[in-house]
Amino acid sequence: MDALFAWFQGLGSEASPLQVHEVAPATAAGAAGAGAEGAAIKMIPALSDNYMYLIVNNATKQAVAVDPVDSKKMLDCCTMLSVDLVAVLTTHYHSDHSGGNAALAAALPSLEVVAGEKDADRTPAVTRRVADEERCHWAGLQFRCLATPCHTRGHISYLLEGQSPGLFCGDTLFVAGCGRFMEGTSATMKASLSKFLTLPETTRIFCGHEYTVGNLEYALSLEPSNTLLKERLQEACEKRRQQLPTIPSTLAEELQQNPFLRAAQKGCSDEEMSQLRRGKDTFTTLGTVITWVLDVKSFFKPDG
Ligand SMILES: [Zn+2]
Repeated sequence: MDALFAWFQGLGSEASPLQVHEVAPATAAGAAGAGAEGAAIKMIPALSDNYMYLIVNNATKQAVAVDPVDSKKMLDCCTMLSVDLVAVLTTHYHSDHSGGNAALAAALPSLEVVAGEKDADRTPAVTRRVADEERCHWAGLQFRCLATPCHTRGHISYLLEGQSPGLFCGDTLFVAGCGRFMEGTSATMKASLSKFLTLPETTRIFCGHEYTVGNLEYALSLEPSNTLLKERLQEACEKRRQQLPTIPSTLAEELQQNPFLRAAQKGCSDEEMSQLRRGKDTFTTLGTVITWVLDVKSFFKPDG
């Protein structure tokens, strides 16, 4: 959910128990190397529908956290797994993603806190600013930073490189959807999505929120007779009924089910992308209300 509503989401989530979901390894478990094959990825639900990620280098037992908004849960997870947290990767400044940075930096004085150069001034505790196409090593793992603005102007997606890469794409790309265009236009989102289209189809998509069911319902409303979308929606509903994440998907799956990514792939016009997003923004009553509040807010604070 957007930062504006982070306070609302946080209500009642303080005492929720630590839940850690294991992500199946990219290849043979425990394979060595600096890329995705040498890493174990854990997903930790936070707030009402955010996901935090912990990427562990199996060889060194060092770890990197992505958007660890709940610092206590993240520290408990590191203790439980006996790993050293060495870096925090922030996808964007919104408090439901960066809200744990300051507490983690206070608890771990040598922690590197990373953010995109254009969001860094608005992100707490940043020690390292990264630019588009910068390649970095954290915890002995190799990452490629991709500037993917639109939801915020400094949004960064982090690609854990390897044979089956992992893309930590925050609120730019969701399973079957994309983030609100809060600081960019439809052209900005098309350019950001086009960067993902250059990645291998085996890339696993680790996004910032559990929005899959609503996104698939919207996708199905655009193509009511698409049987694949119906199947995917049933699968997602079943997983959520069991309180399991619907994430990760793969880029190959998104190319089948994500209306925004598919439109970008087909070279849609700016106006078509804009209409697609507007349709999602007003697809539900709650979405319409949120859109209205954000429109009023941006009228008074055009840079916010
Ligand atoms: Zn968010």
